[in-house]
Amino acid sequence: MDTTYAIPQRGGEIAPIDPSATRKEDSAHAGKRRLLIVDDIRENRDILRRRFERHGFSVVEAGGGVEALDLLEREVFDLVLLDIMMPDIAGLDVLTRLRAKYPPGLLPVIMVTAKSQSEDVVEALNRGANDYITKPVDFSIALARVVTQLDRKHAEEKVHQMNEELSRANEGLEFRVAERTKDLIEANLQLRSEMEQREKTQATIAHLAHHDALTGLGNRLLFHKQISDAVAHKQQHGGNLAVLFIDLDRFKAINDTLGHGTGDAVLKHLATRMRNALRESDKIGRLGGDEFAILQFGNEQPKEAAALAARLIEIIGTPFSIDNQRLVIGASIGIAVAAGDYQDSTQLLRAADLAMYRAKADGRSRFRFFEPDFDREAQERRELELALRAAVDQDALEIHYQPLVNLRTSRISGFEALSRWDDPKRGFVAPNVFIPLAEEIGLIDIIGERVLKRACAEAATWPEHVTVAVNLSAAQFEGGQLVSVVKEALDASGLSPSRLELEITESIFLHGSEANVAVLGELGSLGVKISMDDFGTGYSSLSYLRSFAFDKIKIDKSFIRDLSTSQSSVAIVRAVCGLARSFGASTTAEGVETDDQLTQIRSEGCTEVQGYIFGKPLPANEIPALLERPLPAPK
Ligand code: C2E
Ligand code: MG
Ligand code: MG
Repeated sequence: MDTTYAIPQRGGEIAPIDPSATRKEDSAHAGKRRLLIVDDIRENRDILRRRFERHGFSVVEAGGGVEALDLLEREVFDLVLLDIMMPDIAGLDVLTRLRAKYPPGLLPVIMVTAKSQSEDVVEALNRGANDYITKPVDFSIALARVVTQLDRKHAEEKVHQMNEELSRANEGLEFRVAERTKDLIEANLQLRSEMEQREKTQATIAHLAHHDALTGLGNRLLFHKQISDAVAHKQQHGGNLAVLFIDLDRFKAINDTLGHGTGDAVLKHLATRMRNALRESDKIGRLGGDEFAILQFGNEQPKEAAALAARLIEIIGTPFSIDNQRLVIGASIGIAVAAGDYQDSTQLLRAADLAMYRAKADGRSRFRFFEPDFDREAQERRELELALRAAVDQDALEIHYQPLVNLRTSRISGFEALSRWDDPKRGFVAPNVFIPLAEEIGLIDIIGERVLKRACAEAATWPEHVTVAVNLSAAQFEGGQLVSVVKEALDASGLSPSRLELEITESIFLHGSEANVAVLGELGSLGVKISMDDFGTGYSSLSYLRSFAFDKIKIDKSFIRDLSTSQSSVAIVRAVCGLARSFGASTTAEGVETDDQLTQIRSEGCTEVQGYIFGKPLPANEIPALLERPLPAPK
């Protein structure tokens, strides 16, 4: 410990210390040290006082125990030098009283004894004396012991002071800890409420991620999981399950004609109907658009799935009203029963989807079970789709032209442009195969536009009286571009509009027919001719004739083929020719192959013939020669 007192050096003189040379911050050392010297013999006191004073102490003397106790009562001392032998009160008694008030650490007492008083020394130490010195006093020893005791006292004070500071600091710390704890509790509460909020948000997000917002049914993601869980359950506990893939028939037409609001209401309504038709264990999900799927558990598959599918078709097909609109909607359903290779969710859903696709192709509003062949066919279809995309990318489709012969003049009046696709791997692919595919995968617009432009450009090189006929798909009416595409084809080629014939089929009357009829009107007003192709193959062909003033009716080749065997075909051909004449429209008989057919349609008053009898579709470069040659005279 650092001290201000000079410790006597061995053999050296004791250096006086400067009591003011204390550390500023050390308040215990501030000022002079006060000693009380208690001795009944004045000379003893004087000597000690002078010598201690020389060493920087302040000294007070007391001539006996009574006086000493009195002084101690009134004044503060740092240390007492107490003579043991005194006449009034013995030093030991003074010590006892003094110790009753001041502990040794607070007020050190050094006994001053004669050498012979060793028992008293022991007693004094027992009663709380800090140390002793013997008479005659050796001052350097006395000073050293005084300094030692004062140091100890100082040290104890210091410890005491530090303890106090520590306990004050502790109190502060406790306060701060309490404050901090309060803060922490608040922060904790805040955190918990934030976490609860977050959990709620996460639950909402999870719900949204797994449910369809419109109908509240599970979505594709959830449905996949439900199938996976069901398959796992089946593997452990047995039982069987079926996936039903449901697609509404012609839902797009409702959206297009009545608007998306009604479309949404229809979906909601039907979703509820379906859900109500299910057992509790069955799961239903909306996979997107107008596609729904059901997971059905049951031990008697496929019987139970077939029964459910039949019930669903009936339930969905029951008429209902939305916004005072009476609606009837059909549904096509594909069913896949978990078995063999078809076990996981993707396979099952795909199999059910393929079966649904078949149900649609079979004529809608029916159900089909999946058959493994569908898979292979779907694969082939996918490959065909890729090949068609590549062919369109490389502009590899060609056009062949088939002559149309006017029966009155016996001359070629025009050609029909027919798309041709010669695939390097598959060879010739029929337009009846790739045109519907192109419609489905959105390639028909680009194919149709190319055919139009090329056919017009080609026709512009032909003699003035020769027309060109181009087929249009219903899908080409949908984009709103058709009229401008036709105009561009005419402008670019310089072909007179009256030499262009556009052939449409009855399918354009099935969807969005009013808009399509308006487009037909616009096309007609460009000056191009509009022909009704494949007439008689639709459901209500005659009624379509009322919708638009066609320039030409092409009688489907199925009637021509049957002319020799079917009286009704003869009657139809006759009726159509008569009807067209009354409208001021011309007629073309398609697919005329034989002289008999030719004779017969000629007698029915048909204006034009298209058929192998006068020529198959051929490449453009063969046309000039054909036009120069006289037509082969029918036998
Ligand atoms: P379509 O418009 O009715 O064309 C007449 C079809 O009858 C052609 O079949 C033609 O080759 C065939 N044909 C003509 N004369 C005879 C005959 O005497 N006997 C037989 N058995 N068939 C005959 P193709 O070229 O196979 O075209 C089939 C259908 O594909 C076309 O029927 C048309 O609907 C469609 N198509 C062809 N090219 C295009 C096109 O560029 N765009 C669109 N949208 N459809 C096209
Ligand atoms: Mg045609
Ligand atoms: Mg036709």
